[in-house]
Amino acid sequence: MANATNLLAVNFSIGLAFSLAFIGIARAQQVTFAYWCAVGFLLASSTVGVEMLAPRTSMPQLVSFASFSCLHSALALVAAGLIKNFTRWSRWPLLIPYLVFEAGFLMFLMDVPRNSFFYSFAYQTPFAVMTALGGAALLFGSRSRRSMTEHFLMIVLFLSAVQFLFKGFLSYRLGAGASVQTYVFSSYAQYSQTISAILSILLGVSLMLVVMEESNSRTRQTLLRDHLSGLWTRRAFFEQGETGLKRRRGSGSPAVILCDLDHFKRINDTHGHAVGDEVIRVFAACLEAAGGDVCGRLGGEEFAVLTFSSNASLAQLQVEAVRSRLGNAEFQQPDLKPTASFGIAMMLPDESLSEAINRADAALYEAKARGRNRFVVSRNEKDVAVILREALLRR
Ligand code: GH3
Ligand code: MG
Ligand code: MG
Repeated sequence: MANATNLLAVNFSIGLAFSLAFIGIARAQQVTFAYWCAVGFLLASSTVGVEMLAPRTSMPQLVSFASFSCLHSALALVAAGLIKNFTRWSRWPLLIPYLVFEAGFLMFLMDVPRNSFFYSFAYQTPFAVMTALGGAALLFGSRSRRSMTEHFLMIVLFLSAVQFLFKGFLSYRLGAGASVQTYVFSSYAQYSQTISAILSILLGVSLMLVVMEESNSRTRQTLLRDHLSGLWTRRAFFEQGETGLKRRRGSGSPAVILCDLDHFKRINDTHGHAVGDEVIRVFAACLEAAGGDVCGRLGGEEFAVLTFSSNASLAQLQVEAVRSRLGNAEFQQPDLKPTASFGIAMMLPDESLSEAINRADAALYEAKARGRNRFVVSRNEKDVAVILREALLRR
């Protein structure tokens, strides 16, 4: 008689191998989602383990429930992990279908004949629902752009959901054995375990790719973010700025604001380096709170803000907002009242970001020269031409 034990052994190994791999990744890369996957695959391989032991059991109902519950819990865990990772939704509502399906199996399905139409579909539906919910998390999750790997995972999840429903049909047509003990000898077991092997490999690989992608982007974030202020580093500011300028839509011109804390060396010398650091952190928070698309710490106590769609008046309001926040900020040293100087440059149509920064820098230099704690708007040749033309028109 045909026997699916070999395939069960293969699936058991696949589940265990992925589980170990996810534990390794979770520990090495500190990606929590990988732990969810690790437990999910461990539970999935337990399902297969239970099915392997089934022919020798004297408690078929318990084995049947254990096998169902392990796979159901595995898929629910993966769905919960996906919801946590990809959406702003709460994970707790997932408990409702989970508990309903668990209780439904215990209360209604245990005594239904295994090869009936109802049993076949009712057994597979919870698996289909959990995988489809995982796919829905990726489809409707709050992130605006899905990567190739996320698309791949989403397709695998929906494919798995369809596969579970198909298995319902298949087990009804072929029969999944008279009891759980004879399941491995059924021809359905051969098909079912083969499909499971293919899909669990696809699911494991796509989940792993997503975890790796997450870990890479996190590493990039820590490399590109300044550890003290939390703003973009100089390199990242230019990268983000250039990319954003290329994608920019809408009216208005991009505005560059360059900022430098006044007499910062004096703050360090008088109050100590730690207080200086606090001022940098607070000033960075003031910059971020005042809006702007890309905020960076270009060096020591020098910062830059790029707003993709702005105008000279808006940029000045933005600077005033930063100055007022900094003026109202409270420091551990109560008498500390740091100030900053600003240079504003409205980007010209053919101007590069670094050219605009140079003009903002010149304006900042002027603000320092005029006595600090103020802003200066860069005048460019076009501005001068407009002023001259307006002056001529007025005559
Ligand atoms: P000005 O008003 O002309 O800008 O004078 P300033 O004293 O702010 O400028 P200067 O360039 O003379 O000094 C900048 C100081 O910033 C010197 C440096 O020790 C300090 N600094 C640079 N990075 C850090 C940092 O991460 N933490 C602290 N606490 N100080 C820093
Ligand atoms: Mg300074
Ligand atoms: Mg400086």
